[in-house]
Amino acid sequence: MSGHLAVIGLGPGDAGYVTPQAQAALAAADALYGYGPYLDRVPVRDGQSRHASDNREEGARAAAALAHAAAGAGVALVSGGDPGVFAMAAAVCEELAAGPPDWRSLDVTIVPGVTAMLAVAARVGAPLGHDFCALSLSDNLKPWDLVERRLDAAAGAGFVIALYNPISRARPWQLGRAFELLRSLLPPSTPVVFGRAVGRADEAVTVTTLALADPNAADMSTLLIVGSHQTHVIARPGRPPLVYTSRSAQGVNA
Ligand code: SAH
Repeated sequence: MSGHLAVIGLGPGDAGYVTPQAQAALAAADALYGYGPYLDRVPVRDGQSRHASDNREEGARAAAALAHAAAGAGVALVSGGDPGVFAMAAAVCEELAAGPPDWRSLDVTIVPGVTAMLAVAARVGAPLGHDFCALSLSDNLKPWDLVERRLDAAAGAGFVIALYNPISRARPWQLGRAFELLRSLLPPSTPVVFGRAVGRADEAVTVTTLALADPNAADMSTLLIVGSHQTHVIARPGRPPLVYTSRSAQGVNA
């Protein structure tokens, strides 16, 4: 098959996060697919067609991109952050697994990007400096009970926890419930980072504690990092605090 599909991570927002590899793959494409606001970040190029879709149509978008590539085109499918983190690369694999057998001989490339938790972590110091995990709070594709069990296991095992998809209009109570559960497992002084729209014009990053963390301070563009017993905050005169997770777990009883 002559067509190919590149699934490309654009990073969290600012053009400075788009890697040279992603830029080259975008420039080489005949057709661009993606959620409208992500496509808007890609410079317009003559001769390239653009196929914007709604955020909720991930499976259909992946299938359309695969079908277009199978017809012989060079197709780029864009994703915010990294395409493999709660995003389009898995949707492409799911569609490829379920689709026509000839899709399996397509040339498919995944181009990595800076995922939100790395961009947020870099803003505040090194909160992911020791063992951590990432969890999506969305219960669209899994039962809420499973989210709670994973939070319980992660906090109990001493992981720093990055929370993607913390809240949305359709999921208003889940983050409050997650904080309640975490407060029953971790000390009130546990550092919590709210990183909103990092790398974009409306970026806002705050550092608070689990006791004070307010679910209403998060929106769909927010990533949270909940610390572990090894996470500390260094207050600095005239500068924002530095949050870090110590690399040494000696004396920690997670
Ligand atoms: N593939 C993306 C994640 C998609 S899930 C990535 O790798 O970053 C969408 C969630 O990602 C949002 O609800 C939010 O939690 C997080 N997110 C995406 N972009 C962000 C940004 N610029 N700042 C903070 N969080 C962001």
